[in-house]
Amino acid sequence: MSHPLAPDWLVEPLDHDALDPGVWPARAVRGEDGEIRIGGLSTAGLLEQYGSPLYLLDLDDVLERARRLEDTLSAALAVSGRTLRIHYATKALLAADVIRALDGLGWGFDVSSFGEWEWTRRAGANPQHIEYQGNNKSLHELRAALSHGVGQIVIDSAVEVERVAAVATELGISQEVMIRVNTGVHAGTHDYLATAREDQKFGVARADIPALAAEIARHQSLRLIGLHSHIGSQIVAPDGFVEATRRVLELYRDLQVDHPLTTLNIGGGFAIPYTSADPESNVEQIVSMVGQEIDAFVTREGITLSTIACEPGRIVVGPAGITLYTVGTTKPVEVDYTTEAGSGVATRLYVSVDGGMSDNIRPALYGANYTVSLANRFATAPPALVRVVGSHCESGDIVIHDDYLPSDVTPGDVVAVAATGAYCHSLSSNYNALGRPALVVIEGGEARVAIAAETPDDVMARDLGLALGSLAAHPHSVGQETSGAERTDQA
Ligand SMILES: *Cc1c(COP(=O)(O)O)cnc(C)c1O
Repeated sequence: MSHPLAPDWLVEPLDHDALDPGVWPARAVRGEDGEIRIGGLSTAGLLEQYGSPLYLLDLDDVLERARRLEDTLSAALAVSGRTLRIHYATKALLAADVIRALDGLGWGFDVSSFGEWEWTRRAGANPQHIEYQGNNKSLHELRAALSHGVGQIVIDSAVEVERVAAVATELGISQEVMIRVNTGVHAGTHDYLATAREDQKFGVARADIPALAAEIARHQSLRLIGLHSHIGSQIVAPDGFVEATRRVLELYRDLQVDHPLTTLNIGGGFAIPYTSADPESNVEQIVSMVGQEIDAFVTREGITLSTIACEPGRIVVGPAGITLYTVGTTKPVEVDYTTEAGSGVATRLYVSVDGGMSDNIRPALYGANYTVSLANRFATAPPALVRVVGSHCESGDIVIHDDYLPSDVTPGDVVAVAATGAYCHSLSSNYNALGRPALVVIEGGEARVAIAAETPDDVMARDLGLALGSLAAHPHSVGQETSGAERTDQA
């Protein structure tokens, strides 16, 4: 019988030591001592060495997933003589180690801010392989990107045309641009087919595209090469993807009469499983349907389309990462419940860990579900329904809404949360003055720090009011009432 507080989707596993390969990194196994190991390395050992909490990324797994994805995308999209260009969406997880690994595969990158641009470039990516996104690019960042030879600028509004043209003219170059289309299709809504327009900030409405393309064509400094569409993230149903592609293809066909277009960017957004109840990734099904749609359309309409671009993020790094935490406190909480079977009181075990919404905001932001497992030993006690919570001053500071852990989980235990490689580090914060955890990568059986942890000093360093000089000058500082000689502790 399932726990009365457990959601319907949560199935209690038969073996609490098992790690579902659909959710955990490819090389995650439970060793003979009961510890979770990744690439042969003990997670509890890594936590002890590098500090808690800790983001771990299996870089070998990232590369394997990237190669597999490239094969899948090539088979579906690089057909009929077309070229495939893959841009990794850096916002999923940005670290020089990740950029270098994917650059080594010949992948390009998708950035949407000056910081992402500069970080990616400094990591060694060829600027020509970088595509610049975003709905509000400043003159400053456009100058930086264009002067270094950025690949493409994805235009998001009419205002931007003038801005990009001005910078390109100033530099005496001809800049490749694309237009982001607001297709009216949104991955997150159930009745997306009913939407003619979408009320959101990204892209240009379909009706406005011809005029915008004509405007771009008036500028000698700009070269319109194609259209771009990204309908959202964690997309499970292929229908929306296919419908968006069809709408962009129709625009592409109409524009091609007057503009020498070559490229269609279908965006990213491929879903990954976060729990055993989530469907397996269906990227193969999605891109094969999209590929068929493109092929049929191109043949039927006799258009020229030489390059298909794609921007995966989550699916590349998400499943290859985990987060390790140390358990600080546990607390059984009695909860009143009413179900179809009746009502009563049941216990939910709250397990507090040393991180939370500052290192993974997705449960609080989107109600996202994750999977947790004890990482430092075998489960011997019977399972308890748990809620894993962080250390922040918010009741919504939840890491795991619902999962099972051994009922004897205790302070000092190490727990691992699966599939945290994407949108956890990149969305992390210093809320409650917590330092952000280190990102440790595992490659070839060895671990190294890719991104250092923030110390309390790092977190406080930006507060200039804490500098010694201003402390002394502050009217409420202790030193004001005492003589200079007594204030040597501040020196
Ligand atoms: C975020 C984003 C992506 C990547 O989305 P994933 O869900 O991580 O695959 C691709 N393209 C654009 C424009 C994005 O904003």
